[in-house]
Amino acid sequence: MSYQAEYIWIDGTEPTRKLRSKTRIIADGKKPIIWGFDGSSTNQANGHFSDCVLIPVFACPDPLRGPGDILVMCEVLNADMTPHPTNTRAAAAEVAKKYASFEPMFGIEQEYTFFQNGRPYGWPEDGYPAPQGPYYCGVGGSKMPGRDIVEAHTLACIRAGLGIEGTNAEVMMGQWEFQIGVLDTLAVGDQLWVARWLLERIAEEFDVDVSFDAKPIKGDWNGAGAHTNFSTKQMRANGGWDAIIAGCEALGTRVKEHIAAYGVGIEDRLTGAHETAPYNKFSYGVSDRGSSVRIPGGVARDKKGYLEDRRPNANMDPYLVTRVIVETICGAASAKPAAAKKAPVKKAAAKKAPVKKAAARR
Ligand code: ADP
Ligand code: MN
Ligand code: MN
Ligand code: MN
Repeated sequence: MSYQAEYIWIDGTEPTRKLRSKTRIIADGKKPIIWGFDGSSTNQANGHFSDCVLIPVFACPDPLRGPGDILVMCEVLNADMTPHPTNTRAAAAEVAKKYASFEPMFGIEQEYTFFQNGRPYGWPEDGYPAPQGPYYCGVGGSKMPGRDIVEAHTLACIRAGLGIEGTNAEVMMGQWEFQIGVLDTLAVGDQLWVARWLLERIAEEFDVDVSFDAKPIKGDWNGAGAHTNFSTKQMRANGGWDAIIAGCEALGTRVKEHIAAYGVGIEDRLTGAHETAPYNKFSYGVSDRGSSVRIPGGVARDKKGYLEDRRPNANMDPYLVTRVIVETICGAASAKPAAAKKAPVKKAAAKKAPVKKAAARR
């Protein structure tokens, strides 16, 4: 029997890319092959020469259709088969290859906000819901709008075989999170994009929109981020602490490059309030959710593990984020392996302990 392949790609919408997809029926026994689309309708070409090419790079079962149907994440190429300017995966692939010996791994915490009728899902028509406090990991009654969508999305990710690790309700009513990982540089990007597609597709059924806006509601309401957790083989190994500190220090040397890759509107979200550090002031610390980069408490205890870059926005492109992190941290480690040894543990060790802001959020 023929089956359906949903070809998914990233478009050219400015300033933040959106997902597109279309369906191809594939004959029994055949594999999804290269396809194309009209780039003039996706801000990826002009009308005179509008053919763009889709190259399948990652496929998984389609949990929303029948057995045998699949989802296919694609790269976009120009007609001459060079990477399209909107194709951020191609460059990430080069960096992943260059630093493969570090075995970089990622886990990404994707926050997002449901919207309906132009306001966060569940919010009253006029004014605001009760202030933040009860919503983070909350339960009960009218407090937790969107849980049915979250449940359907989680099940869909599991059935698709994606590396979904968990979900939680966030600090602002209507805001939620899921985590994808622990996966390598390209896989985490591929699977996060497919998980985002599934979320938007499932929310359709509920007449709800998904916003990845970094600061959907101005004022004293939490923004939406995509904390990016990172490790190398050296960090994960016994005694990985020095490599983790060296990674934090390296991140501190390229703040502008990172902020530029971490999503539109980052200045509005990284204000220093709501468990963020100001976007232009780099800091790192153990268990410190008010720093740019946090070393989880358990990692500090074990002296090995990973670091959490808390700066990326919910609307970031994971191919850009993972690429710049690998470039910076693995690049620094390759450049001066000796320097990476000396751990200026100053900041990390000095930083005050966990839980200071326990009431706030992740
Ligand atoms: P929190 O909300 O406390 O920041 P989460 O449980 O939401 O923490 O997310 C933790 C993330 O850390 C997960 O995405 C997980 O994949 C990631 N992670 C765990 N171990 C590693 C590792 N060795 N390398 C990279 N990421 C990791
Ligand atoms: Mn986090
Ligand atoms: Mn969170
Ligand atoms: Mn989290």
